[in-house]
Amino acid sequence: MIHSKMKYLLSFFLLTVTFMLNAQQQNGYWQQHVDYQMDVQVDVDDFTFTGTQKLTYTNNSPESLKRVYYHMYFNAFQPGSEMDMRLQQIEDPDRRMVNSGASRIADLQPNEIGYLRATSLMQDGQPVSYKLAGTILEVELAEPIPSGGSTQLDMVFEGQVPLQIRRSGRNSREGVALSMSQWYPKMAEYDFEGWHAHPYIAREFHGVWGNFDVKLTLDKSYVVGGTGYLQNPQEVGHGYQTPGSKVPRVKGKTLTWHFKAPKVHDFMWAADPDYIHDTLEMEDGPTLHFFYKDKEDIIDNWKNLQPKTADAMTFFSKNVGPYPYEQYSVIQGGDGGMEYAMSTLVTGERSFNSLVGVMVHELAHSWFQHVLATNESKHAWMDEGFTSFISSLCMNSIMDQQNENPFAGSYSGYFRLVGSGKEQPQTTHSDRYEFNSAYGASAYSKGSVFLAQLGYVIGQDKLMQTLREYYRLFQFKHPTPNDIIRTAEKMSDIHLGWYLMDWTQTTNTIDYGIKEVTGDEKSTQIVLERIGLMPMPQDILVVYEDGRRETFYSPLRMMRGEKGNPYPAITRTVLPDWPWAMPTYTFTIDEPLSNIRAILLDPSQLMADINPDNNLWQRP
Ligand SMILES: [Zn+2]
Repeated sequence: MIHSKMKYLLSFFLLTVTFMLNAQQQNGYWQQHVDYQMDVQVDVDDFTFTGTQKLTYTNNSPESLKRVYYHMYFNAFQPGSEMDMRLQQIEDPDRRMVNSGASRIADLQPNEIGYLRATSLMQDGQPVSYKLAGTILEVELAEPIPSGGSTQLDMVFEGQVPLQIRRSGRNSREGVALSMSQWYPKMAEYDFEGWHAHPYIAREFHGVWGNFDVKLTLDKSYVVGGTGYLQNPQEVGHGYQTPGSKVPRVKGKTLTWHFKAPKVHDFMWAADPDYIHDTLEMEDGPTLHFFYKDKEDIIDNWKNLQPKTADAMTFFSKNVGPYPYEQYSVIQGGDGGMEYAMSTLVTGERSFNSLVGVMVHELAHSWFQHVLATNESKHAWMDEGFTSFISSLCMNSIMDQQNENPFAGSYSGYFRLVGSGKEQPQTTHSDRYEFNSAYGASAYSKGSVFLAQLGYVIGQDKLMQTLREYYRLFQFKHPTPNDIIRTAEKMSDIHLGWYLMDWTQTTNTIDYGIKEVTGDEKSTQIVLERIGLMPMPQDILVVYEDGRRETFYSPLRMMRGEKGNPYPAITRTVLPDWPWAMPTYTFTIDEPLSNIRAILLDPSQLMADINPDNNLWQRP
């Protein structure tokens, strides 16, 4: 059953549907805009850097702003920082960040820590007062920025790249020299909820949309990859030049790389003198770049990864929406896998399956984070969960996997979380989960189940239409939980506020069961019960002794609508609505009890029922 259901689901991926929607939910929406111009010199011997930043801030909010805040993330990598203290206190620290249980940050020497400081800051030519508070630079503006106005902030900054502890840093375990994420003074986001000047403790990110113009000057032997289109490929070479063309020899020790990245909310780069740089030009698609260390035992995997990246790019573009940039780079670096604008940093010494898996996940974030820029700190389930969901489908397709339920791992992760007793609502700030494991299961597993189960509630075809419409409406914006659920409501004509509320704002669980089956020669009475607090509609499969199958469907009354028949080959009877407050629900089938072989709730197993034992009744 599950298998055919998934086939059915996948068959809908091929449909393209155009929907006319009114854009009413966009009314009143605004977002800030920021343009960065940076010129940075990096010393590859002592890992320090200096730079200038010309930042043009446009205040599209209805209020005037008298302060702004910058993220200075590298200051997290210092003994005594909030990141260090949290690492020392949490019961299940990230294993990458500890050495036999002890914080690696606490051990950093002065020449190994990370730092990022402003040495001068001017607003439209006037000096402003500013104060560094951990990873946030608090700035009192010389002049308020009026609603609708712009201002220019000129900063001179200096920094040191920390030893690689988490995400960014120097000298990764795989020997990548520079993994430069969260490295520059980054304007914090101000939106309808106010400022999001979150300290860098563990996770995650939320940035202002804008355009980047970045010049990086460093030792000429280094190969650089990252966000943005290289503006001077014929000067730089290193695999960027037109194939077959000659690149003049550089005089002096350094080379300046000039990148431009339009319509992004972050800028990452990585550099290493031993990178191999391959490119793959996709037909009707972006150019893919690959940067990996020249190490014999990983080269085959990294070569074979390249067509798989193209397959994944095609899969996501078809099923969610067109990839909007002309370039994507998969770069060996970092400490696992992390998504950035137009690029990703992944560790590269992996099995082929694992390498493809991490690439697929991080590439999927190009849609669910780097184009649909949700606030990850507040709604991690919307980027990690949705990414996990679509990656599971992609892996099934491009790796030719025959998983009956591609989301099985997400469901078991969620069930383990419930069983652990450590679950917190998904509305918890990503840094405020008591356990890292609970954050992980909540964001990735429960977030993926949010969509897979939404497919159970509204139908798989409507779910995929919802994702495409959500992408179309909210690309290059900051969608919120309400935006995905309102899109689903419009696509399905079903009320879904209850689903968003119970699943994401509470730890209520689902448990439905078959309570009693009685009958005679003429008919059979089936009594279902709701044991858990969370409401769900019910698909009921009945298998008869003569081999026939039939389904029944009891929508929730508060859905104010019904999904289509998920099993068109089988006759379905739509039963009266089940009002949530009624603990039991009875319906009658015109078949003798003696002809009933089995009754099953939710044959798709997409409903996250925490106790499936009572979902099956079989003739004794
Ligand atoms: Zn992710």
